[in-house]
Amino acid sequence: MNATESEHGSCNILLVEDNRADVVLLEKAFEEQAFDYRLHVATNGDEALAFLKQEGPFVNAPRPAIILLDLNLPGLDGREVLEAVKTSEALRRIPVIVLTSSRSNVDIRECYDLHANAFMTKAANFDDLLELVRQIGTYWLTAVRLPTD
Ligand SMILES: [Mg+2]
Repeated sequence: MNATESEHGSCNILLVEDNRADVVLLEKAFEEQAFDYRLHVATNGDEALAFLKQEGPFVNAPRPAIILLDLNLPGLDGREVLEAVKTSEALRRIPVIVLTSSRSNVDIRECYDLHANAFMTKAANFDDLLELVRQIGTYWLTAVRLPTD
């Protein structure tokens, strides 16, 4: 068991992202990192909530240490997922990091009003994406203490 696992249990990350190209780039950026993780991908909001609530095909899904959440999703969108997580007694302690192409102050305010833990704008190129993922790992998976349940 490494340091990350001993601090936070097995380090599972739930990525909620509908754009396949963004998923592939994020997977590549995570593979370049030194920290241990397991990345789970939900491609829409309903799937994300089913995963978090361990419903249907996700009955054995692990509780993620953090959630990386895109805002614009088909069906239940990112704001609705965020609201559902943060109003759930069982889920609200899981940090939600909004990861979106938006830089809009309206979106930023709305997400923090809904109790997002962080709002990050997607990187414009792969080098910046590597740095962004490194920062997520350094801060959310190493520096901070997270609840285990
Ligand atoms: Mg999207």
